[in-house]
Amino acid sequence: MRALVQTAFGGPEAVAVQRVPEPEPGPHDVVVRVAACALNRLDLLQRRGPGMLPGFSLPHIAGMDIAGHVVATGASVTSRAVGDRVVIDPTVGCGSCAHCLAGERGHCAALRVIGGNAPGGYAEFVAVPAGLAHPVPDHVGLVEAAALPTPWSTAWQATYRVGEVGPDDCVVVQAAASSVSIAAIQLAKRAGARVVAVASTDEKLAAAAGLGADLLLRGDAPISGPVRDFTGGRGADVVLDHVGAATWQRSLDCLRIGGRLVMFGNTTGDEVSLSLANVYHRGLRLLGSGAYTADDFSLMLDTYFSGGLRTLVAAECGFEDLHPTFGRGDSRSLVGRVLVRP
Ligand SMILES: [Zn+2]
Repeated sequence: MRALVQTAFGGPEAVAVQRVPEPEPGPHDVVVRVAACALNRLDLLQRRGPGMLPGFSLPHIAGMDIAGHVVATGASVTSRAVGDRVVIDPTVGCGSCAHCLAGERGHCAALRVIGGNAPGGYAEFVAVPAGLAHPVPDHVGLVEAAALPTPWSTAWQATYRVGEVGPDDCVVVQAAASSVSIAAIQLAKRAGARVVAVASTDEKLAAAAGLGADLLLRGDAPISGPVRDFTGGRGADVVLDHVGAATWQRSLDCLRIGGRLVMFGNTTGDEVSLSLANVYHRGLRLLGSGAYTADDFSLMLDTYFSGGLRTLVAAECGFEDLHPTFGRGDSRSLVGRVLVRP
């Protein structure tokens, strides 16, 4: 089969289309013919190097967010059949440790991530455990489905399970046009919350407005004052922030007394400082939202497939165009996801 294989660390030249053997299904696996696979930031970071996930090795086939058709099933598989349209949860646990039994596969010591440290979706075929291949209803396209797995599960966990966003909340969403935030804005609106979208460009804010955001703020200007004006002087109930160091202080400043800051990323840096008094005196709750659970994934799909939500696709391309065109590190200027079609 054709696959986009990474053989070194570096720029676009580190990956090339190669012919590699087709995967064989293990007894509990299905083989999926990839219809589409979405570009992730991790793909670019690990291409530049070093590998970030334990067990990463070269050569590597990246691509974590995958949808396609089942074309073969292992001997023990009864839950899926050839021809099924599926979307893949890329998180593979050992299945027997305490974390896996609790559905917290992301904390398994033997964690494998399809496209992260195991062969992924930049290939014509990929083998995955059958239990991670979730059915896609006919009314949802496979390109659309491939845009869902990691950003929507991450947003689900941050917005609902950790952030506990409800109808009375005002929610500030930082980096509002990122793939995770595109999901979070819609999930917060679906819960009945009011949403303040913060982004770096007017184009990104326009995208957030199209998803239902109620107040649009540029991130290069102070946000605390406008958020307080919008909430009658109170401040935001929840801030969803995966930006990290660059937005940390502003996120804290716009919270109400007792407000909650959900932290689930550090794309602008990992180290911050804080005033302990500012946090305890105001009763702020600082909440980490890490690896999504198996339940988060299933609930997210059920919700998305029930309708009324949408993904944004910035571009579709073939293997040859992915890294030369979108892999320069400027993909964050795009609104929506880049989908690769073998
Ligand atoms: Zn485990």
